[in-house]
Amino acid sequence: MTAEFDVAIVGGGPSGAAAAHYLASQGHSVLVCEKKAFPREKTCGDGLTPRAVKVLSDMGLSQELDTWERVEGLRVHAAGKTMELPFPELQDFCNYGLVKPRRQLDQIVLDHAEAAGAKVLYETQAKEPIFDRGVMAGFIAKRDGQDEEVRAQWVICAEGAATKFARSLGRVRNEDYPMGFAIRQYFKSPMEHSGWFEAYLDVRSGPKQLPGYGWVFPVGDGTVNAGVGLLSTYGGWRAVNLHDLQNNFIAQLPPEWEVTPETVCSKPRAGRLFMGSSVWPPHGPGFLLTGDAAGMINPCNGEGIAYGYETGRIAGRHIHEALQSGGSPVLEGYTKELEYIYGPYFRLGRRFVKLIGHPALMEKLVGMAMHSKTVMSFALTLLANLEDERGQNAEQRGLKMMKKLAELKP
Ligand SMILES: Cc1cc2nc3c(=O)[nH]c(=O)nc-3n(C[C@H](O)[C@H](O)[C@H](O)COP(=O)(O)OP(=O)(O)OC[C@H]3O[C@@H](n4cnc5c(N)ncnc54)[C@H](O)[C@@H]3O)c2cc1C
Repeated sequence: MTAEFDVAIVGGGPSGAAAAHYLASQGHSVLVCEKKAFPREKTCGDGLTPRAVKVLSDMGLSQELDTWERVEGLRVHAAGKTMELPFPELQDFCNYGLVKPRRQLDQIVLDHAEAAGAKVLYETQAKEPIFDRGVMAGFIAKRDGQDEEVRAQWVICAEGAATKFARSLGRVRNEDYPMGFAIRQYFKSPMEHSGWFEAYLDVRSGPKQLPGYGWVFPVGDGTVNAGVGLLSTYGGWRAVNLHDLQNNFIAQLPPEWEVTPETVCSKPRAGRLFMGSSVWPPHGPGFLLTGDAAGMINPCNGEGIAYGYETGRIAGRHIHEALQSGGSPVLEGYTKELEYIYGPYFRLGRRFVKLIGHPALMEKLVGMAMHSKTVMSFALTLLANLEDERGQNAEQRGLKMMKKLAELKP
């Protein structure tokens, strides 16, 4: 196939699908090349915070969302205590989260983009970029064992943490930035409707409390998604075996959850989390990077789905404007907007995860915070980046102030 599209997108995960939906809705010809056949397994906790719910609603999926498993907030287990922290009441975000297995979620959102007019080719892998006079003009894609040329005025690299294609564009992760590692499994469990994102902060390797957390998210179909994640800001992360960490985590869960080796119903799957704008700049001549490919995961909580949707839509808007005005093939404005929206918060997040990278400090901070529900509620708003633009209550003022403080030199 040699065809010319306005926009060709590498990857049909959250960020690729959101970009495709936005651009197709604006009437542009859009091709999504997704290397896997859908529906496909995706290594994820399947947790959607109010931030993700907002973008899914903005994409017109509100009715669909009403049928998904809901949670009220975070139930934190740490320092021998349990605390229930409902999501805050805000103007910009709803006060609940959702759980939806990625196997279904990604298909729903990509189908939604297709319904808006995007063309989707599954089992089609983008292999190498095509440049015309220094500007990206498409790529070679492998489909049914054949190499085919895809030509487009703009290319969006939404390949997630795969990195191969982004590397061919000269974009690699800044290794000084924090990275996450996480593993998950599904278990049959009577807690399928627990109503909370359960977070266990007491993740240990030997005696040390590590920067990370274990989770159990209720899927609502007779199963829960349980996993554990760790940050690279812990100096000894290379020596930690994620499978052992997961087995230890599961062994400490209360018996009524029935999350045991006997109830497991999927293989453990692990992945990397590229955080805090760690692939920069996310633009180049004729192309933009979105979601994990641009390292856009929130370092504070490992959330990446919402940021994938958001950056996909922002990229879509910049390309839409460029297609209308016929301007420069270098969309610096996209990078500037990402820096404006996420820069201060991600800098705060990078400082925070550096701080908790010290096991003794992590243990002390958690122990202190678990004495106060006010502190923990603020922590939830802060770590989930739930900033209300016009919000002026104490939590919102605190969050805005923390972002400003993080801009000061250490
Ligand atoms: C264990 C784990 C748990 C997590 N839990 C959560 C959570 O609970 N909530 C949350 O918000 N985030 C979570 N995340 C992060 C989240 O999964 C990612 O941030 C999110 O998937 C990013 O979306 P994306 O579209 O950028 O990339 P992806 O979802 O990775 O999508 C990329 C797509 O591109 C395709 N692709 C790759 N290379 C090519 C190619 N060359 N050609 C064509 N197609 C290609 C892939 O098959 C894939 O479908 C978790 C991550 C891990 C590892």
